[in-house]
Amino acid sequence: GPHLSIKDVRLEYKARTGKSVLAIDRISIEVPDNEFAVIVGPSGCGKSSLLYLVAGLAEPTEGHILLDGTEVNGPGADRGMVFQSYTLFPWLTVRENVEFGLKRRKVPAEERERIVSQYLNDTGLAAFHDAYPKQLSGGMMQRVAIARALANDPRILLMDEPFGALDSQTRTSMQKLLLKVWEQHQKTVLFVTHDIDEAILLGDRIYVMTARPGRLKEEIVVPIPRP
Ligand code: ADP
Ligand code: ADP
Repeated sequence: GPHLSIKDVRLEYKARTGKSVLAIDRISIEVPDNEFAVIVGPSGCGKSSLLYLVAGLAEPTEGHILLDGTEVNGPGADRGMVFQSYTLFPWLTVRENVEFGLKRRKVPAEERERIVSQYLNDTGLAAFHDAYPKQLSGGMMQRVAIARALANDPRILLMDEPFGALDSQTRTSMQKLLLKVWEQHQKTVLFVTHDIDEAILLGDRIYVMTARPGRLKEEIVVPIPRP
């Protein structure tokens, strides 16, 4: 994956009353190729907002967001997203959910089949390929969301508290699974969590944010290799 530069970004939400909320105050972050970067901080510090900016779902009030040197301009398939709330298509099977972006990009059927099967295998979903989301547990749904995001071969994977709604046992197994597929597929990742233990387990580099308005408090480069 490419590298991400967040340069001097400020984000102000303007309310209809005219009052404004400073959500992010001058944040700069550099995420090198294929690095697993984690943003951690208390609720309301602007973590989701920062991810939305990178996703192109919102625009910074000031500053720049660049992917491989090119300014982000609106949403695009080059950024894969995984949210806490699954956001699968309920009317599609597991296989069809993972295949969705490939079909949209008119990838030929044979290649789609190969790619989808690979990601279903990598995420432990092969036996569930014909199931519908409502038949799955939270952990399994999040596997589908990860497989769907990766199948599009995005330049960067953006994850917003993806395991926040899972019980602790499922969360632990999903963290392991994520590291495994990340190592397999070499991706730049920006992962948001309020859980410092999760940040330390997953991140090569951890950005600690302060409570609102979100500022960068600390940058930690994790010196310990993963088990
Ligand atoms: P976090 O993800 O760290 O919990 P958010 O990015 O969701 O933080 O929110 C950062 C701050 O911006 C919070 O104070 C939140 O209430 C505020 N905020 C988020 N979205 C909006 C919005 N659309 N309009 C106004 N304020 C918002
Ligand atoms: P999280 O803490 O997981 O980011 P929140 O409950 O803070 O979730 O926010 C959920 C949604 O509501 C987000 O889309 C956010 O942008 C929006 N939001 C949060 N705070 C505000 C606010 N003060 N005004 C308007 N929208 C908000």
